[in-house]
Amino acid sequence: MDMIAAIDRQLAQLDAQSLKRVRRVVETPCAPRATVDGRELLAFCSNDYLGLAAHPRVVEALREGASLYGAGSGASHLISGHSRAHELLEERLAAFVGMPRALSFSTGYMANLAILTALGADADADIFSESLNHASLIDGARLARASVKVYPHAGVEALAALLEASNAATKVVVTDSVFSMDGNLAPLPAMLALCERHNAWLVIDDAHGFGTLGAHGRGALEHFNLQSPNLVYMGTLGKAAGVGGAFVAAHASVIELMIQRARPYIYTTAAPPALAHALLTSIDIIGGDEGAQRRAHLQSLIAQLDRDLKLARWTRMASFTAIQPVVIGGNDETLAASAALLEQGLWVPAIRPPTVPAGTARLRATLSAAHTHEEVARLALALNQLEEAR
Ligand code: PMP
Repeated sequence: MDMIAAIDRQLAQLDAQSLKRVRRVVETPCAPRATVDGRELLAFCSNDYLGLAAHPRVVEALREGASLYGAGSGASHLISGHSRAHELLEERLAAFVGMPRALSFSTGYMANLAILTALGADADADIFSESLNHASLIDGARLARASVKVYPHAGVEALAALLEASNAATKVVVTDSVFSMDGNLAPLPAMLALCERHNAWLVIDDAHGFGTLGAHGRGALEHFNLQSPNLVYMGTLGKAAGVGGAFVAAHASVIELMIQRARPYIYTTAAPPALAHALLTSIDIIGGDEGAQRRAHLQSLIAQLDRDLKLARWTRMASFTAIQPVVIGGNDETLAASAALLEQGLWVPAIRPPTVPAGTARLRATLSAAHTHEEVARLALALNQLEEAR
């Protein structure tokens, strides 16, 4: 059939450009030691930054949530799927990040679509989007009716010029806090000052900061000590929080607008309430002594990798977060490096375009509080030897 042949040609082209993705089947809970397609590997790929995905207390809370609330929510939030567990989680999250109100979502992808389609619903709105923003923000901006203006990475001055030139009735600046493929932070204090001066919203996607940044793990707002009615904060719950889902926290009117108008919120089944119940335990751990200890251990692993990596041609990006990319450049070379690590039992994914700009393919190692110093030493040694051998 012609239609199938056309698809197969597209797939063959991806393969020829070393851009074809493969999925590996993981047989064990998310943890550094993973059984993958029948082999035991040491994994440096998950976003389970605090090691909560398989934490006994979180797993037990999930079990308890299932007995309290059953398996599924049965409907969207506005019909009958909004359970007491979602309500409690939203109250808890708003208080935790210090914002007036929060709204829970089943994924961060949908939360980002909801924020941008709600705030950028009108044609006389401008969305100012950072060039390295996550795909879900790019897609949210595409789905909104607003005009989209992309400003360069960390380009506060370029953003200021764009805001200055805009006559839009609604202005929405949107950025990752921790860039997901680079690990560095956006200059949020300067951006918030600009947004306040120009009456613009500042939408912060803290997918990789929530749980890991700030003394209490409250994320980028705590790290930079930011508070403002202009802030719209998005945190995901499937990374450091170890479960799944996301939330938006903002002024109560912004949240109410999303409940009333955001189609990615309205037209989808609410996440299973048991997940919300389990997340209450995750937040307890993140905000308590154990969370602080886990963050301190994670920071010591990051410092260790920084010390132990001795790269000459490849570039370790300047990142103090758990995202530790090593930029190699070419797609083939990066894939080969990832494959060579896999042969040694180390699982470090190769990240290629369009996830990162062409010519900047990279190994993206992520560290977790569940890793040990010995495991990180093994990673550093393997990377040093691999670069030397090539
Ligand atoms: N934003 C960023 C920066 C992300 O890295 C991700 C997930 N990789 C998301 C949003 C989407 O979150 P979720 O996985 O919960 O859909």
